[in-house]
Amino acid sequence: MDNYAEAAKIIKNSSLTIALTGAGVSVESGIPDFRSPTGLWEKYNPAEYAHIDAFRRDPRKIWNMIFELMGMTNSAQPNSAHLALAELENMGLLHSIITQNIDNLHQRAGSKNVIEFHGNAEYLHCIYCGAQYSPEEFVIGTEPPACKSCNEILKPSVIFFGETIPYDALLESQKLANTADAVLVVGTSAVVYPASSIPHIVKSRGGSVIEMNLEQTVLTSSITDVYLQGSAGETLPMLVAQLRKSE
Ligand code: NAD
Repeated sequence: MDNYAEAAKIIKNSSLTIALTGAGVSVESGIPDFRSPTGLWEKYNPAEYAHIDAFRRDPRKIWNMIFELMGMTNSAQPNSAHLALAELENMGLLHSIITQNIDNLHQRAGSKNVIEFHGNAEYLHCIYCGAQYSPEEFVIGTEPPACKSCNEILKPSVIFFGETIPYDALLESQKLANTADAVLVVGTSAVVYPASSIPHIVKSRGGSVIEMNLEQTVLTSSITDVYLQGSAGETLPMLVAQLRKSE
């Protein structure tokens, strides 16, 4: 049996399958990941740009990176990987996506059960007075937007290093990991905790880990049951085609 047939069999036999996705899923939409050689961390040192203390110290500096990221996410369109995951949900074969991405592309591709582990860059909030702003309330120009209540510079509602994961997202994803028979791990280096613990929880309960990545990760030789190598925009549609064949 080839790897696709094996992955399809696992999904067919699973009563609840979840997906953990990362930046790799959106690379084919034109948004670079963080850790690849052409990734954002090559240009922006995470300790200097992605820690909450750095934002508190100098929000204008951090907005240089945010403007660049927003420019990419605003013009990006869902790719065939996002669409294939939405199709799996429609087919009744995928319960939910737990995404580390902040680009809203799973929702725009039609996925309904999406848990945003690291927030969503379309929303803004004030870290000083707690005011929250939806995308319609601001047109992002060339200056960092300021809070309408206290005039401090706003922060996108994404999780920086040093911040806690949104409570509901953490609770719900742990509940799912403790119920799922299978997890698809797609386009993530699986090194950012606690998202990285999700496949381990599934595996520790006897569930299966199907990994889909360009390159091997720390999971591949440790807990991965089936490894589908390649770009997510190719491998996910191939997995859907395999599942349709065996309908
Ligand atoms: P990462 O950069 O650590 O890892 C990306 C993984 O995807 C790597 O293993 C890489 O080999 C793989 N990959 C790259 N292109 C791929 C492709 N076309 N198909 C399949 N796999 C591919 O990303 P991460 O693990 O998600 O962690 C980075 C953190 O940065 C996350 O917390 C996320 O919030 C954030 N981030 C989000 C976005 C986004 O929203 N699109 C973009 C960059 C970073």
